[in-house]
Amino acid sequence: MATSPPADDVERMEFQLALRRRGISDQAVLRAMEEVPRERFVARGFTDSAYADQALPIDCGQTISQPFVVAYMTEQLEVGPQHRILEIGTGSGYQAAVLSRLAREVVTIERYRTLADTARERLQTQGYTNVTVRLGDGMAGAPDLAPFDRIMITAAAEDVPDALVAQLTAGGKMVLPVGPRHDAQYLVKLTKQADGELTREELIAVRFVPLLPGQAREL
Ligand code: SAH
Repeated sequence: MATSPPADDVERMEFQLALRRRGISDQAVLRAMEEVPRERFVARGFTDSAYADQALPIDCGQTISQPFVVAYMTEQLEVGPQHRILEIGTGSGYQAAVLSRLAREVVTIERYRTLADTARERLQTQGYTNVTVRLGDGMAGAPDLAPFDRIMITAAAEDVPDALVAQLTAGGKMVLPVGPRHDAQYLVKLTKQADGELTREELIAVRFVPLLPGQAREL
């Protein structure tokens, strides 16, 4: 992979300031956002906008989320250094890279082969050795690697997928956007109690591409 020029320092500083201004205060999360070069995860024509607080298009009609939302979801997930994390919706691999700076291990699942292959290569090239990218239907999770301490879904579900709840540890947390495809979606944070019951907290309004069933037939 060709290496892109280092991002402008001023731009990177403004990026951090914007996250703080919007309320991100967890130092470890801010550091992870600082360490992962977003310009290496966006599509070629969009590197100039990599540090603007906006979602950007990637292949297969999908999007890399807005940096604030990446930071916010990461903060809400309350990740610790011993955690094993499952992410659904690899996309560019950016969110997985950010999570990998905070956790022991990240498993991420993508339904498009093109995106999974590109993200896997990109993460390997950049030395993110604790991330595993899988091609498949994330709604089914990764039963062979479960349970997970934390699960993040980065595509909007109409309902919380049961298979994923089953793959959370006791005390585990899941953050996901919930809502219909073209209507109001909001972030939900679930905590699995020791007795298996879920507590549910509604966070902020968001806009995500839909969580779709099955592996994509298109590449
Ligand atoms: N986290 C990504 C952005 C994700 S966009 C990043 O940091 O770049 C949402 C992604 O979820 C898309 O790539 C879409 O293809 C994927 N997706 C949607 N439904 C899925 C499913 N059932 N299993 C796996 N991936 C899915």
